[in-house]
Amino acid sequence: MDPLTIAAIALATIPAAITLGYGILCWVAPFKTCQRCGGTGQTTTRFLRRPRACRRCDRGTRLRTGRRVYNVLHRLRSEAHR
Ligand SMILES: [Zn+2]
Repeated sequence: MDPLTIAAIALATIPAAITLGYGILCWVAPFKTCQRCGGTGQTTTRFLRRPRACRRCDRGTRLRTGRRVYNVLHRLRSEAHR
């Protein structure tokens, strides 16, 4: 087989496999641990270091970006077919 063909197949297959894997990950586990608070759901204030609720997440977990995009597109599609 031609080496350029093998390179073209690899260039087309690897990103598709990564995208498919991320899609499956977003389907199986749509929530991930919040990076800001480390899953505790609380952060500390800058001056007095008092604990307060994390503004980025809901109780330590947040939606993955891919799942958020899917939800937006799904909502858009359902509103378009209304
Ligand atoms: Zn958080």
